[in-house]
This record gives sequence, structure tokens and C-alpha cells, in this order.
Amino acid sequence: MENDLAKRVVVIGAGIVGASLAYHLAVKGAKVTVVEAEGIASGVTGTSFAWINASHHESDPIAPLRGAAIEAYRRLETQLPGLKVRWTGALSYSASSRKSLPGSDKQASKKVVSRSRIIDLEPKLKNPPQSASYAADEGALDAAEATYALIAGAQANGARVLTQTRVLGFENLGATVTGVNTAIGIIEADIVVLAAGTGTAKLTEMLEAPLPIEASPAIFIRYKSPLNLVQTLISSPEMEVRQGSDGALLAAEDYLDDALENQPAAMALRTAKAIQNELHGGAYLDPELACVGFRPMPADGIPVIGYLPKIGGVYVCAMHPGVTLAAIVGRLASEEIMDGEPSSALDPCRPKRFFQT
Ligand SMILES: Cc1cc2nc3c(=O)[nH]c(=O)nc-3n(C[C@H](O)[C@H](O)[C@H](O)COP(=O)(O)OP(=O)(O)OC[C@H]3O[C@@H](n4cnc5c(N)ncnc54)[C@H](O)[C@@H]3O)c2cc1C
Repeated sequence: MENDLAKRVVVIGAGIVGASLAYHLAVKGAKVTVVEAEGIASGVTGTSFAWINASHHESDPIAPLRGAAIEAYRRLETQLPGLKVRWTGALSYSASSRKSLPGSDKQASKKVVSRSRIIDLEPKLKNPPQSASYAADEGALDAAEATYALIAGAQANGARVLTQTRVLGFENLGATVTGVNTAIGIIEADIVVLAAGTGTAKLTEMLEAPLPIEASPAIFIRYKSPLNLVQTLISSPEMEVRQGSDGALLAAEDYLDDALENQPAAMALRTAKAIQNELHGGAYLDPELACVGFRPMPADGIPVIGYLPKIGGVYVCAMHPGVTLAAIVGRLASEEIMDGEPSSALDPCRPKRFFQT
């Protein structure tokens, strides 16, 4: 039976962040409507390297969020059968650790490992470094598949999902937002959550509360590859690679510029050569997809999570690294919205920092 008193929440955006919000809110009894301009996971989530990278230093303002990211995903895996993380561990090294030991890291589970252990972990490395950081508890997922699983979980808890439905504006009563305008009409809401990735900046402009969230490009590459080329996830100056559950080799590269030689297809060929220099058995790497994805990057690099100041009823969720943080932020934000329980871990992320004069 439908509960007429339930809080009506519109979540704008069906990327991994909006999907996690929708799932956690629906489980808590909200009457959720997800409104997505295109398709599920059609934004940057669909081309993410999707490393759940919990590594952090003590001075990192979002250290508590990163620190809780793994446990939050492990919990979701028990709730949603379609959400599967490959907990392979992650091996990171810099140019200097080719010769010496890297500095200490604050992540409890992250250890400095020696060359012999690196060879055990990654037998196909041609030139293993003297040492590396190894986070045995980290992993990665198929971010689109996880988003579908979260949306299915939200729907199983009563959420309505509208795809191909762009939010064009807002309804308001005085300084409080009461709904969203779409081509199919007004959808009323007690709370509107902005989880629209790089589209969030435009939505806040419509509300005359603009947030500085840039579209930050990065290159995603997917290769047809021999199986078991990489066992963990390797992050080094030469390459950032991991193998997907279907055997494809996935790579992420910095976006350099729009010169012809730095276009995604050219980068895919250059990156393949770099990988072949690093790994035995990498001779047959066939690029299947190479594209630029735009990450929602707040101007100060810190996620923007919380209520917009001066406007009632609007909660923002825009961040990088969005895959790492989606599970924990979905949980904490849903507790704030539904139970009125502010989370101190979200304090550094409040939108009000951009509106102080
Ligand atoms: C190459 C690459 C590698 C990456 N690697 C990692 C990594 O290893 N780890 C990590 O944590 N992160 C990584 N990221 C970043 C990560 O992918 C993003 O932070 C995350 O996917 C953001 O999710 P989102 O849901 O906020 O945004 P999106 O997936 O972009 O979702 C936003 C949705 O909102 C919709 N929308 C926008 N405007 C409107 C509107 N007006 N009305 C309705 N709907 C609207 C869009 O259509 C879109 O579907 C990487 C990104 C790239 C490109």
C-alpha cells in the first residue's frame, strides 16, 4: 500500500551517484522519482575506469569518506545481487619506486610490498619496480552495471524512473523549490536532489545559486585482450590498467589537449604500446573503444554534498571520484534527507562554502 505521507524526492540524474541516492532513499521509505535526460548510466559513469580507490592521506578533507567507501560497497553487495565488485587489490608505484621504497601511506590496509611480492601479484610485469604500494582490499566494478543494479534496487522499493526526460526548470513557492519542470509536465517534490554530474552547474544556474563545477576530461580505453594479463589493478607512471570481468583490458589516461595526436583513437594506440612495453603477453591489444568522459569536478576539488543555502528543498550531490564515493555518500545523504541526521564526514563538502561573501 502506498504511503501518502512519505517524503517525495525527485533525484535528477541516473548516473552512479543519482542511482545510489535513489536506492538508499527508497529503502528508507521515500517516494522517489528519478528523472534522467537520456538513459541510465549514459553520462560519465558509462565510461569510468571505476576504481574504488580508498587511499588517502590524513590531511585529505574527505579521508573519512574514502575510508568508509569499501565497507559501503561490501554492504551493497549483500543487498543487491546485480552489484558485483572485483576485489582484486590495487598496486601503485611511481617512477622513484622503480629504485627505492615509497613513503608511508595512511590507509591501514595499504602496504609497501617488495619486488618478489610484486612478481607474485603481477607475474607478467616485464620490469617490476623495487617496491610498490599494495591495497589488498581495493577493487573496481563495472560502473554501468552497478548503476543498473542500484536503479533496479530503487524500483524494487517503489521508485519511479523516467528516462529521456530532461529537467528544464524548477517550480517554487517563495524561496522553496516544490518540484521540477520537464517536457512531460511538473513533478512535485518535497526535496529535489541534484545528481546530474556535469549538468549540475547548469541546474544551479537556473536556481540562481550557481556552483562552480567544471567538466574535467579524461580518456577511457577498452581493449580486446588476452585473458589474465593483469591480476590486480596497476597504477604506474606508464599505465593505469585493470581487466574487466569479461576479460577486456581497461585503461584510463589523462586528457592532454585536442591536438590530432592526442585524440582518443591515437591515445589508445600509444597507450597499447606503453602497456606492451610493460607486460609480457600484451602483443595483441585491440582497441574496442576510446573516448573522452567528462568528470564533474568542483572548483576546489572537494565534493559538493548538502542543501543549497538560501533555497529550500534542494540537496546537491556532485563529486569526483564519484564511483569511489557513490555507495557511502548515498547512505549518508539519505540519512540526512530522511532522518535529519547530519553527517560530520560530509562537513567539508557543504555547498555553502561557495556562497560566503
Ligand atoms: C576515464 C575516466 C576514469 C575514471 N576513473 C574513476 C575511478 O577510477 N574511480 C572513480 O571513483 N571515479 C572515476 N571517474 C569519475 C567517475 O566516473 C565519475 O565521478 C562518476 O561516474 C560521476 O557520476 P555521476 O552520477 O555524478 O555523473 P553522470 O554519470 O554523468 O550522471 C549524471 C546524469 O545526469 C543526467 N543529467 C544531466 N543534466 C540533466 C537534466 N537537466 N535533467 C535530467 N538529467 C540530467 C545526465 O544525462 C547523466 O546521466 C573516471 C572518469 C573517467 C572519464
